[in-house]
Amino acid sequence: MKIYLNNSLTKKKEEFKPIKKGKLGLYTCGPTVYGYPHIGNLRAYLVWDILKRFLVSQGLKVTHIMNATDVGHLSSDADSGEDKLEKAAKKEGKNAWEIAKFFIEVFKGNLKDLNILEPSKFVRATDTIKEQIKFVQILEEKGFLYKTSDGLYFDTSKLANYGQLANIQNIDLQEGARVEKNPEKKNITDFAVWKFSPKDSKRDMEWDSPWGMGFPGWHLECSVMSRMYLGDTFDIHTGGIDHLPIHHPNEMAQSEAVTGKLQANYWLHNEFIRFKDAKMSKSAGTFITLDDLKEKSFSPLALRYFVLQTHYRKGMNFSWEAMKSTKAGLENIVREIAFYDKPKKISIELVEKFNQAMADDLNTAQGLAILQETLDLDLPTATKLATIYKMDEVLGLDLANLRKRALQMPISAKKLLEQRSEARNNKDWTKADDLRDQLQEMGVEVLDTVDGQKAVKIEL
Ligand SMILES: [Zn+2]
Repeated sequence: MKIYLNNSLTKKKEEFKPIKKGKLGLYTCGPTVYGYPHIGNLRAYLVWDILKRFLVSQGLKVTHIMNATDVGHLSSDADSGEDKLEKAAKKEGKNAWEIAKFFIEVFKGNLKDLNILEPSKFVRATDTIKEQIKFVQILEEKGFLYKTSDGLYFDTSKLANYGQLANIQNIDLQEGARVEKNPEKKNITDFAVWKFSPKDSKRDMEWDSPWGMGFPGWHLECSVMSRMYLGDTFDIHTGGIDHLPIHHPNEMAQSEAVTGKLQANYWLHNEFIRFKDAKMSKSAGTFITLDDLKEKSFSPLALRYFVLQTHYRKGMNFSWEAMKSTKAGLENIVREIAFYDKPKKISIELVEKFNQAMADDLNTAQGLAILQETLDLDLPTATKLATIYKMDEVLGLDLANLRKRALQMPISAKKLLEQRSEARNNKDWTKADDLRDQLQEMGVEVLDTVDGQKAVKIEL
């Protein structure tokens, strides 16, 4: 099947062709681990998980690399301000290493809750410092760098196609508009690849280098890691739309300067989730984490289902009402499949149709519509269930597990169900209704069918 992806590099939807037949390298820009990710951040990892699952379902062997930025991401994109980790550490009375360790675990826990497959390698920036220093040395030898009072900067004017990815020539480059003013920079778009440690204080994270004590610039790690694990040029590079104007062009520039080759052939970007028509931000009270959802009794899988409903290149608006109806929608699917016969023999036609939708730049909304169509069709339930499970290998809603859980009854409920069955046999309808109410209170839904009484307990 031909797979089409919207490539930010060429600004076109084009057929995806891996460099090597049957396999591909995928790089996803990972989190800066200084705080809880919000659900907008998590959207990225969800959509790239669906991309990966789909490529795997098409028989491709995917090597997926993700980084954890645990150093060097400064509070301003202009390579100034404090290191986000050191800043968070100071606030918490901890050191940057402790903060990173804690939030890496938080992040991994979030991925697991969302049923996101682990990358082939999840690499911390601080575990590749040696390689990053070597990379900077090559950049220096090749004459791409110059020194300022606070670090080594990449001279973007030395690369003819700098900014091709973001159409930077079209972006307003008024000094102070895109980045803060730095009088020592030769060009506004220049960026730090290595920062010098401050002379008057000691950082938690700093390393000796040919240029003295310091730490890497944020963009460096992705160029270095992707090359280490995926080679000079790899297939697909993904990230949030916020990476498009600065982080990705800078990554690409460094890589190209070192290897003379294009870093990645396809660049994919996902849009944000907004809340109350604003960007998620702590100060505006629009910052929602997975824990916030759980506290309000929303399963992380309901968020997954929510994200699937919109194409990854379109913005989404979060609201608690929308979450409620999303949750109900997913519950309906589980309720519907709960009593299907054991899965047997997929409908090739429906799976094909589903794959066509996914191959069209990951049209997940269409994919879900086809899943719903499968539920509605007049087919043997064993076929429907097998078909839906096949689709779910890509969607990752964990439906088989949700179904299993829905059919598991606590002992207390089992007892009541037995009593109710007996009451019905005795035509004691009042008692049967009363028991149904009791079960309902326990979250157990009872259905009376031609095959007798059936029960589900749906918790999402
Ligand atoms: Zn990156």
